[in-house]
Amino acid sequence: MSTIVNDIEVIKANHTKIHDIDFNNLKFGHVFSDHMLECDYKDGKWHTPKVVPYAPISLDPSAKIFHYGQSIFEGMKAYKDEDDNILLFRPLDNFKRLNISAKRLAIPELPEAFFMDGLKTLLKVDSDWIPKKEGSSLYIRPFIFATGKGFHASPADEYKFIISTAPSGAYFAGKVKVLIEEKYSRSANGGVGFAKAGGNYAGQFYPTQLAVKKGYQQVIWTDDNTHEYIEEAGAMNIFVRINDTLITGPTSDRILDGITRKSIIELAKTEGIPVEVRKITVSEVVEAAKNGTLKEMFGAGTAAVISPIAGFGYKNEDFDLPELENTFASSLKKRITDIQTNKAEDPFGWRYKV
Ligand SMILES: *Cc1c(COP(=O)(O)O)cnc(C)c1O
Repeated sequence: MSTIVNDIEVIKANHTKIHDIDFNNLKFGHVFSDHMLECDYKDGKWHTPKVVPYAPISLDPSAKIFHYGQSIFEGMKAYKDEDDNILLFRPLDNFKRLNISAKRLAIPELPEAFFMDGLKTLLKVDSDWIPKKEGSSLYIRPFIFATGKGFHASPADEYKFIISTAPSGAYFAGKVKVLIEEKYSRSANGGVGFAKAGGNYAGQFYPTQLAVKKGYQQVIWTDDNTHEYIEEAGAMNIFVRINDTLITGPTSDRILDGITRKSIIELAKTEGIPVEVRKITVSEVVEAAKNGTLKEMFGAGTAAVISPIAGFGYKNEDFDLPELENTFASSLKKRITDIQTNKAEDPFGWRYKV
């Protein structure tokens, strides 16, 4: 059976899987809601999206995604407040960044209405899948990949845009130990590090496996040229607190323009926390760890919001961070999640009611 919602056709699943899901014990991104948004690019244009039952897709073996990696994605979250309003956080920024990634990977840019109306329709159809438990949310994964055929190394002529969603619990449990990378890089000047391109993550897995073997959970990426500057933490932006100043690197070809990162910068400023956006050297962080002025390090990204770092390894030496009572990480995380979930005023206009 099909209906039309916000001009978008909705084809409902015959059965719901929702009764099989234990909403009190959700992992991150492990189970998927009943429906997905599907939208195709062919004959030179994007065609109106549809909400369809979540299901496997079939592709030609020569589809260019498999050979040349034209694949980009976004990550967002939906929340429900006390009154069952469906809330998003700065969704237009995700839409804009998807198109920035698209352009860099020679993927045709998507019209805003297809993204926003498609997303809103999907969330209304699967609204029961949005968890209300504190710390939980509906993780939203918009992505585009090349479905066009042929072994010729050139951009595809057909693409698919999908949004699928996964009710999720908290991303990380506990603090992580990280390794400052001295050899490998996740990005380079002129490269695709600023885009959420699938291949960026594939390239991170092996160095991360090596770090895990050494007893760390994540890699701190440094600049590809000198490895002297701290740039990102795994697939998150990184913040360092030296004394009472919060420092993060400037966005560039190599550092992704994270929505959590820029929200933290704005929030910290309004809280009166001194913030510096500038290059961070590995040596100043090591120095600060040695002389006790390094108070906190944390990753920032949609999935975990803020992920505190317990310590780091560098050149076969380990440095522990202090265990503070009141951290910037926990107070800023609370400020952001309170705004996201409508537990606090939103003077910035970040919250978006569906
Ligand atoms: C997605 C991502 C981030 C965080 O971006 P948010 O918009 O805050 O989720 C940071 N770094 C990398 C490499 C990423 O892929």
